[in-house]
Amino acid sequence: MKILVLNSGSSSLKFQLFLQEDLSVLASGLIEQIGDLKSAAQLSFVDAAGNEQEYHNNEPVPDHRTAIGVMAEMLRESGMLTDMEELSGIGHRVVHGGESFHQPVRIDGDVIGAIRKLIPLAPLHNPANLIGIEVAMEQVSHIPQVAVFDTAFHQSIPEHAYLYALPFELYEKQKVRRYGFHGTSHSYVARQAAHYLERPIEEINSITLHLGNGASAAAIQGGKCIDTTMGMTPLEGLVMGTRSGDLDPAIIFYLSREMGLDIEELDTLLNKKSGLKGICGENDMRTISEAAEQGDQQARLALAIFCYRLKKYIGAYMAALGGVDCIVFTGGIGENAAVVRRLCCQGLERLGIRLDEEKNNIRQKEILEIHAADSPVSLLVIPTDEEYEIARQTMQIINTL
Ligand code: ADP
Repeated sequence: MKILVLNSGSSSLKFQLFLQEDLSVLASGLIEQIGDLKSAAQLSFVDAAGNEQEYHNNEPVPDHRTAIGVMAEMLRESGMLTDMEELSGIGHRVVHGGESFHQPVRIDGDVIGAIRKLIPLAPLHNPANLIGIEVAMEQVSHIPQVAVFDTAFHQSIPEHAYLYALPFELYEKQKVRRYGFHGTSHSYVARQAAHYLERPIEEINSITLHLGNGASAAAIQGGKCIDTTMGMTPLEGLVMGTRSGDLDPAIIFYLSREMGLDIEELDTLLNKKSGLKGICGENDMRTISEAAEQGDQQARLALAIFCYRLKKYIGAYMAALGGVDCIVFTGGIGENAAVVRRLCCQGLERLGIRLDEEKNNIRQKEILEIHAADSPVSLLVIPTDEEYEIARQTMQIINTL
């Protein structure tokens, strides 16, 4: 039997098909520009002869219902999934589970209603995730479907860490609190780290750094998250590609008064025009690190600000955890940008963080150990795999049915 993982965005559908037995990947695909005049669908898989194959299709895909049909057709043609009945379950990525979901759940009408209720907390993401769920539920309602939430892993964060120092009724009535995101990735790499270190996850403290276009850190004690940098929305915390991360909230009042910016303009400013892009005009870390190396001052500054914020949170989370056994780097930047790993560890030797520069420059797809032999804290680069984690959690739920 097989497990299908769906990640439905507002104009895209990402999917991956796994063999249930060992969760090996059979096929993965992406349909983009749903609703545009021209769409792009792509599927990759390994054929019976062991050759990598790719299918492309540029027919317009007007909506998500059609996208699921295109996906099913491509999977059928590839021979990877000849009939939907071969599926023992479908796992859906859902961005926001609010306080309602602490773990993955089997989807039914009540769950759909609860995800819909959470739309005000994730107005861009939850509706897009819901479309994928509703279409899949309509088409194959008898196949168990599971929602896996980005926020669920952070629901173990204690009250003193998730509450903001605002009037308490804002939490009670408006649910203003820290939720955190990237939970699937943080939980996956934390478990991988424990496995790699051959230690029970219950016994280790780790700091996981998910550094992609969006970036967040998590403090994990014995496998449970106790703090994370993203807040009520993904804007808080680390410096990101186009998001500012932490800032003095009074800057917003100042800019509104002095420049007459309205709420929408401020939202765009902080979410789309800030972060690395705001400092040096570029949000791609590869380009920035190359420019910095060639002496570009703004690129150097952007890199320095990004890494300093990271370093501050490493220190903060060492205090929150009362000591750390392992720091994990993941996401496009965490996995590939050796310069970021070097700069954010620089000067932390007295805290037990000793990077081995040579190991740090090695590039490999598997888990990479980058700490010096005498480093009390293990430093690991672990490629994240959110789809695998969603498939694993989906299977866990199916096994209890
Ligand atoms: P997303 O959050 O969209 O999933 P990714 O995890 O794919 O993003 O990370 C994207 C970031 O990773 C970009 O800033 C990109 O420049 C960076 N990145 C990818 N490869 C490299 C590399 N070889 N060196 C430096 N940065 C890289």
